[in-house]
Amino acid sequence: MLTNLKEQPKDKILGLMAMYREDPRQTKVDLGVGVYKNAEGVTPVMRAVKTAERKIVEEQITKAYTGLAGDPVYSEAMIDMLLAQSVDKARLAAVATPGGTGAIRQAFELIKTANPKARVFVSDPTWPNHVSILNHLGIEMVKYRYFDAETRGVNFDGMMEDLAEVTGDDVVLLHGCCHNPTGANLNLTQWQSVIDLINDKACLPMIDIAYQGFGDGLEEDAAATRLVASSVPELLIAASCSKNFGIYRERTGLLIAMSEKAENTAIAQGNLNHLNRQNFSFPPDHGARVVATILTDDTLKADWMAELEETRLGMLALREQLASELQRLSGSDRFGFLAQHRGMFSQLGTTPDMVEKLRVDNAIYMVGDSRMNIAGLNKNSVPILAQAIVDAGI
Ligand code: PMP
Repeated sequence: MLTNLKEQPKDKILGLMAMYREDPRQTKVDLGVGVYKNAEGVTPVMRAVKTAERKIVEEQITKAYTGLAGDPVYSEAMIDMLLAQSVDKARLAAVATPGGTGAIRQAFELIKTANPKARVFVSDPTWPNHVSILNHLGIEMVKYRYFDAETRGVNFDGMMEDLAEVTGDDVVLLHGCCHNPTGANLNLTQWQSVIDLINDKACLPMIDIAYQGFGDGLEEDAAATRLVASSVPELLIAASCSKNFGIYRERTGLLIAMSEKAENTAIAQGNLNHLNRQNFSFPPDHGARVVATILTDDTLKADWMAELEETRLGMLALREQLASELQRLSGSDRFGFLAQHRGMFSQLGTTPDMVEKLRVDNAIYMVGDSRMNIAGLNKNSVPILAQAIVDAGI
């Protein structure tokens, strides 16, 4: 039977990583994989995470299963961090999931259960896994215009025109902050217009938030999600702790379903628990426990926030250095968007041929759609990248 299987498409980023490893050039720069790296090229374990892990090792007395929804202390701490006081907590159901990906996957499954006719509107471009999970689940996907290839900002008029096609059966998927792959984000006035459209169409919004704290700050990055939560009747949120806690391999995420009325919460919670049960039963606990330990301890939380802020400011400084270096070398302001983008990524907005040229000529590795991981740079590689971009005539 297994001989019936067909080859799955290769993961482009993993292929790129392999090529990078084999490249002997000393000056090679890896802007591919979406993992934060410090100036030394290391993805560090954050200080507060180490401390929390030590505490857990010392104090944990059992590794018996948690509840199906995971540890409620984790869900509550995450809900506070994401939503603060923006909604009545009695309207929220939540489950711990294996990473943000697990939350997204189950959000889509919940949508399919609630309305098999639902289509999911996704930004063009979006994180490729959104597309492949929707395809995998056989959910119809509709792309809405998002990235303006000219300005490298959001094509807001195009986005709103395309979202005008949404019906009450549909879901609009939005990135809460730090859009992946483009780095281009809506401002709060634009978010308000999207909210008005969602309410007008009576469709279901879904927010994927995987980079809270990587853009403008922990509170600032949650502002749009809070605005949506306080303005719409129903909402799904898929959150990831992989980046902001640096616990990629621990697979730590949260799926929140906000119902219109508190009396619907128990049914929503039951459905979320059911999805966990069918997919993997109990969610992984270690990462969730680390996050809960940090968020419920004032000292640890302050230390985590300080390190997250250093991380964010480091990426911002690299953006500014790159934009100004490009300004100097090209004598033009056309790369100013790099300093305006937020989060770990920026889409340079060039062709796959140019991306390939940068790899062949300069050992600069970025994804074919010209997404660059800004955290893959350091002070010394910024001038190398800027020179290569200008030399290539981008
Ligand atoms: N959403 C987006 C937009 C992402 O970029 C990522 C990570 N690359 C995720 C969700 C999920 O991350 P994870 O499953 O590692 O928590």
